[in-house]
Amino acid sequence: MKKTYYYPSRSFRSSAPLNKKKDLYETLGVAKGATKDDIKKSYFKLAKQFHPDVNKTPEAKEKFAVINEAYETLSDDTKRQIYDATGMDSNEQQQTGAGAGGPFSGGFGFNPFGEAFWGSFAGGSSGRKGAQPGGFEDLLKEFEQFFSMNEGAQKQAGRAGEATGGRTKGKDVNVALEIDFMEAINGTQKTIQYARTNKCGTCNGTKMKPGTSESQCGLCGGTGFQTQQFGHAIIQSTCSGCAGLGKTYQACISCNGVGTQNQQSKETVTIPKGVDSGVNLRMSKKGNFSLKGEPGDLLIKVTVKPHPTLQREGSDIISEKQVTLSQAALGTTLKIETIWGSQEVKLKPGVTHDEQITLQGQGVNKLPPNQQQKGNHIVKLKIVVPKKLTDAQRQALEAYARLEDKLE
Ligand SMILES: [Zn+2]
Ligand SMILES: [Zn+2]
Repeated sequence: MKKTYYYPSRSFRSSAPLNKKKDLYETLGVAKGATKDDIKKSYFKLAKQFHPDVNKTPEAKEKFAVINEAYETLSDDTKRQIYDATGMDSNEQQQTGAGAGGPFSGGFGFNPFGEAFWGSFAGGSSGRKGAQPGGFEDLLKEFEQFFSMNEGAQKQAGRAGEATGGRTKGKDVNVALEIDFMEAINGTQKTIQYARTNKCGTCNGTKMKPGTSESQCGLCGGTGFQTQQFGHAIIQSTCSGCAGLGKTYQACISCNGVGTQNQQSKETVTIPKGVDSGVNLRMSKKGNFSLKGEPGDLLIKVTVKPHPTLQREGSDIISEKQVTLSQAALGTTLKIETIWGSQEVKLKPGVTHDEQITLQGQGVNKLPPNQQQKGNHIVKLKIVVPKKLTDAQRQALEAYARLEDKLE
């Protein structure tokens, strides 16, 4: 498959003397210290504005080429570095051999979005040999999506702490905890065992082998940069020996020089009275350790096991109580098992099936700050109609039936 790239015209390149060339940053409308993202954003904006398929003015084609050339140089870290140091754009870099075989080797083909993008307008608006279905507008939409996705991902990374001046909070650790029904009522203490990233115990987070100290990088003499010559150009690059730190050290063996280790941790958590399933308890700074900021939190998601006879609805307890026909008709004293112990409840004569009795304040403590308040215990009465009767029971009921008011 033949790749066709849209490159700036020869005439532009050869007719533009070095000293009269427009600054590439200016071309893209960004400051010299612009981030890669700013450059990309600005490039997208300009590319959209001057694309020959969209912009029919005579100068659009050349302007588009210039924008692309500027982006080709500034979007690549190495090429940008060389440009900053020498003023050579990527084509000139290629011609002088900077990059060929050196530490800046790497292709000079410029194709940030893959063949589809460039193929779509490679032949110009007349030829369209490499045109993809959908055309330029659709493709542009794709790039914008790709770009905004990238931006979203960066915003998320920023939320994790990167935005706060390089300080990064450690990640939260989530654990699940199941407790008994009555433990939730009375409150309890639980020991949680969980894995988290912690400060390395051997090097105490310094990343260095104990007893050793930092020394100046021998490769760059402590500057963090290496200088190399390509033709007549002198190029500075980040030192490969110390990654630009200027210092080297012996890595801690326990953590491999990372400064952190995975560890089993134990924490005792106090579960307040009245906790219910779904409640999240947070233990501040008991999550993953971070060398760059505060530790994350430990989040404990509580699940409460069900009770065989009692149900819970928030701070109320619900239970059922069976009563006989005669108890319902004549009234009685019932023994109700509440979470606070058994309680005698007087039933007035003539209660009905599904009637509810509310025992005020016999429910569950509310969560802080209303911990002193309690919900209610609600008893649902279930009248049991006997399925079998003894002869004596039948005679008694028949005697009663003769006296009761008939329902038609
Ligand atoms: Zn260590
Ligand atoms: Zn170095």
